[in-house]
Amino acid sequence: MDKRQSSHSCASCGAMSCRTADAGKYPDFCPTAGLDQDLLAETLRIYKEDEEPGRIARVAAEVEGLFYGRYCRVEETVEFIKRMGYKKIGIATCVGLIYETRILGKILRKQGIASFSIGCKTGAVDKTEVGIPPELKINKGCGHESLCNPIMQAKFLEKKKTDFNIVMGLCVGHDSLFLRHSAAPTTVLVVKDRVLGHNPVIALYQAGTTYSRFK
Ligand code: SF4
Repeated sequence: MDKRQSSHSCASCGAMSCRTADAGKYPDFCPTAGLDQDLLAETLRIYKEDEEPGRIARVAAEVEGLFYGRYCRVEETVEFIKRMGYKKIGIATCVGLIYETRILGKILRKQGIASFSIGCKTGAVDKTEVGIPPELKINKGCGHESLCNPIMQAKFLEKKKTDFNIVMGLCVGHDSLFLRHSAAPTTVLVVKDRVLGHNPVIALYQAGTTYSRFK
């Protein structure tokens, strides 16, 4: 069996020699060593010929290169918005992160950047409307419980003609729907983790200790 078709992938790599194009050190299963050159050429064509993805790639690299290890994610996001020249920012927020979204809006305003935020429960449609059984609601079916409606959030921000969107703490899956339906390019500032203070990587850092249940 071709080793490149085995279960190994980049996560098994100890070399990461693709960072410096050190071809002599690519492992047997390396996707770079066995790369479909037509596919690579197609991606490069997109960066070089399509205006928006090319510009995003160059500005993202600019922010990374200039502020590496000095700017936190909020600062990098503001810097990216300014360098891209975005004027109208959409914020798709979890209603549980309204406070943090308000602070973000103030930070953007101070930088002369306008933002519109839209909460996940917008529309106030009961979860049962889309086939969620009452017993699977958090309230176990004791009355109305609004559906998170990320598709509505995306459509609302599209109508507002936002240049760029920011996700603030949407749940897993709801974020997937927002990202799929967003008309504008989007970054995720906060991911939802109700247990770990919206910092899910802690579970991976502690996989050998506190979160050993993953084993
Ligand atoms: S592309 Fe190759 S060298 Fe880079 S991380 Fe994956 S396996 Fe390692």
